[in-house]
Amino acid sequence: MNVVLMGAPGVGKGTQARYLVENRGLVHISTGDMLRAAVAGGSELGRRAGAVMAAGELVPDDLMMKLVRERLQQADVAGGWLLDGFPRTAPQAEGLAALLDDIGQTVDAVLVITAPDEEIIRRLTSRVSCRVCGKIMNRKELDPARPDVCPACGAQTDPRTGKPAIYQREDDREETIRHRLEVFSTQTLAAAEALAARYPSYQIEGTGTPDEVAARVADVLG
Ligand code: AMP
Repeated sequence: MNVVLMGAPGVGKGTQARYLVENRGLVHISTGDMLRAAVAGGSELGRRAGAVMAAGELVPDDLMMKLVRERLQQADVAGGWLLDGFPRTAPQAEGLAALLDDIGQTVDAVLVITAPDEEIIRRLTSRVSCRVCGKIMNRKELDPARPDVCPACGAQTDPRTGKPAIYQREDDREETIRHRLEVFSTQTLAAAEALAARYPSYQIEGTGTPDEVAARVADVLG
């Protein structure tokens, strides 16, 4: 099964992606994760994408298409994939459809998770991650006595870089989040519409607990 997971930043796509990977054996393809890895690795793509991402803008469509074209043709995704964070513009949606036709694949379900903007801003401004183990969590999950220590792996600093283990993503600051939400409604909704014209598409209410949202997803995927 091939699934496209869409929704504004902070709507819970990452959490639902984890459920789908665990329960349905799909390979998670997150373009945001791929770009962050490119930035951390200092590749040519990373150098071009880094500043754009920090500003909450979108990386150019041609770079994104190249990245996704290569990834979707790798052997490990042949049993079913979950695209997370792509497409984000109407040209990317058209490009994806053309690419899939080209390589003889299709999309079985497009899931668009929705939540009110204010709820999203509340969630994202309190989101932190661990540089060492990669865990993404709410600040509330940190130990108030040791808020600089990752509750999952116990790290305080990243041994590779000497930077603090716990950090807030640069694009999770309120002003940038508001901008990313605007980018979502002006550009990414058009991508969702373009996909809905070609593939089975479902709106999923993203409020409530992650388990409640997962149950709604399971209902539509059957
Ligand atoms: P995400 O982790 O999906 O929120 O992505 C983080 C950032 O990476 C976005 O705000 C964009 O700057 C960039 N990005 C990720 N996916 C795409 C895409 N499909 N098109 C353009 N930019 C993207």
